[in-house]
Formats: sequence, C-alpha cells, structure tokens
Amino acid sequence: MMHWSLKRQSSWVQLAGHQGNFQVSKGGEVLKLYSELEAKCLDSLMRDPLRPFVPQYYGLVTRGEHCYIRLEDLLNGLRRPVIMDCKMGVRTFQEEELIKAQTKPNLRSDMYQKMVKVDPSAPTAEEHEQKGVTKWRYLQWRDTTSSTSTLGFRIEGIMMEDGTVQRDFRKIHTLTQITEASFLTSNILGNIRVHVCSQNAYHSRLVDLKDALRSSEFFRKHEVIGSSLLFVHDHSKASVWMIDFGKTMPLPDSKEVQHGIPWVEGNREDGYLIGLTSILTALSQAISL
Ligand code: ATP
Ligand code: MG
Ligand code: MG
Repeated sequence: MMHWSLKRQSSWVQLAGHQGNFQVSKGGEVLKLYSELEAKCLDSLMRDPLRPFVPQYYGLVTRGEHCYIRLEDLLNGLRRPVIMDCKMGVRTFQEEELIKAQTKPNLRSDMYQKMVKVDPSAPTAEEHEQKGVTKWRYLQWRDTTSSTSTLGFRIEGIMMEDGTVQRDFRKIHTLTQITEASFLTSNILGNIRVHVCSQNAYHSRLVDLKDALRSSEFFRKHEVIGSSLLFVHDHSKASVWMIDFGKTMPLPDSKEVQHGIPWVEGNREDGYLIGLTSILTALSQAISL
C-alpha cells in the first residue's frame, strides 16, 4: 500500500513510499532504508551504461539501529522544484511474488475489501459470496485499475511548484488523460516558454535513456518491477532519473528479457519499454499542444 508523504526540508521532498524509509542527510545525499536487492542493483548500475541516469550511489551507512543506502539527492540545488514519479512497467508485482501467492490459495478478506472499495463490480459472484479473494487474483487485478497494465506506467504523484501534491491518478487510463493531468501540459509553470524548454529537455533525456537501456547489460538481465522514472524541473533545468530498485530481480543464469513485449506468466517480461514509449508519446503530444 502506498503511503503519501510530503516532507520539505531544504529542497527534499518524498513523493511516494513509506515515510520512515528515508532520512535527509548532509552534503547533497539522501539515505534510503537498506535492502539487499536494491544495494546490489545500485552497485551493478554504477558499472553500467545506465549510470548517468541513476542517482549516484555512495555505499552504506548505519544510523541508530538501521542501515541505509547513501544516494545522491536529485533535488539538491533546485529551487521550488516540480516533481513527478512515474512507476514503470505493465505489472507491479514480481513473478516470484505471484508464485508464492499461488502456493497459498487462502482467501483474503482484506484484499476483497480493498477491491470492493475501488470497484464493487470487480469481484466475481463467487468471490462476493466468500467475501474473499486470493492474493494471486488481487495482485493481477490491482494493476488493471490504473494505466499500469494498459500503458506500461502510472503516475504515482506530482508535486507542483507551490508544494501541493496530486496523487489521485488511479482512474487515468489513456495517454490523452495523462497529457492533460500531468505537468506535461502548458499551464503548470505559468510560463509557457520555460515549460516548453522543460518538455524538450525531458524528451531528449528520455531518448538518450532509451539508447542507454538498449546497450545496458543490467537492463537485459533484470526483471525491473516497481521502479520509477523521477521527472524533476525548476526554473532553470529539467531532468529524468531512474529510481527505486527494491523489487528489481536478477534473472537466472543466461535468461534475458526484452522489456517491450507483453507479459505472460513465466516469461518475466516487465513492459518497462512499453511504458517508456507511452511517456514519449504523451510528451510529444504535449509539445505539439
Ligand atoms: P515505493 O516502493 O512505495 O515506491 P520506496 O520506499 O521504494 O517506495 P522510492 O520509490 O525509492 O521509495 O522513493 C520514494 C520517493 O522519494 C520518490 O517518489 C521521490 O519523491 C523521492 N526520492 C527517492 N530517491 C530520491 C533521490 N535520490 N533524490 C531525490 N528524491 C528521491
Ligand atoms: Mg517507488
Ligand atoms: Mg520501492
């Protein structure tokens, strides 16, 4: 479950994730609660063509009882930044999670309740009767309620220049809705010239990212789940970064994924490039508005 937070200390803002997972640090760094999977990914990424698109990783540090990952603060030096977190991919659960869930066919009333709250017509007649759904069923259904399964990404949150946060993008399914809802449209900065510059900067950064992804061994050999593209701009510059590798799994042995073809159970495909193509299309639409 996503917890939203807005923590403003100097330029630092946390748009998504559990509030307790982050600590602000001195010297342009943020600290994220340690996970072995994420630390391993960041370590490999520092030796990969994707390095320029990932916050710099400075290793680990202990604070109190917890270990943290030290990351470059992507908001450092920005004034009144505008930020958007887009969670990438056509699914937000790992195949491993699905397999685990399939071995436990017990009915979950909490997940049934969550389902009914979003869409009372989503459960089948049988599920309504049992007042429960399996976790396996819930995980797959959840991604169909946002643009995740159709567009290969969803907007997790946007923070505007004045610090207000928008987070209700669940019902957005089409690219046109994305273009209208997100800060890709014209009236956000109140200054159309600066805004168009940001859009162009985003566009060329994403085209460069696509090239880097093509030549990345890391990308070929990982199932990238729940990772985001973080869009950040202020009055003078705009950039996009890959963040959040807490659920990015190395593939077994010589297995590789393409990231641009549909997911079927067992093929480990995540649809990351489907999402990137959708975002590039939305950006092109916005630029031509
Ligand atoms: P979840 O898995 O629920 O998405 P998480 O705990 O894994 O969350 P992240 O997604 O890595 O956390 O980060 C949450 C938010 O913190 C991002 O949306 C972004 O606003 C901010 N953030 C993360 N890393 C950085 C960074 N290096 N620099 C600046 N901001 C960051
Ligand atoms: Mg995240
Ligand atoms: Mg995460």
